[in-house]
Amino acid sequence: MAYRYRCGECGFKTSWGTESQGELAQELHYTDHHPGLLPGGTVEVNGKNPASQRGEGCLGCLAVLVLLFLLLASCHR
Ligand SMILES: [Zn+2]
Repeated sequence: MAYRYRCGECGFKTSWGTESQGELAQELHYTDHHPGLLPGGTVEVNGKNPASQRGEGCLGCLAVLVLLFLLLASCHR
């Protein structure tokens, strides 16, 4: 499960992560941007694993980059 915290005072959203990571990010945001206020807002929960999604996305990007690099390298010869 991934958690994302939304600020109750502005449009700030933490990045997807564990519940404790989100809580910490939310607390840091309130300390920085809304000093003196108690952290509030809402929590979004994502059932999918964000780490694996991000991993696949990066692998896809990497494959495209490698292909582009190979194309460029072959053009220069
Ligand atoms: Zn805020």
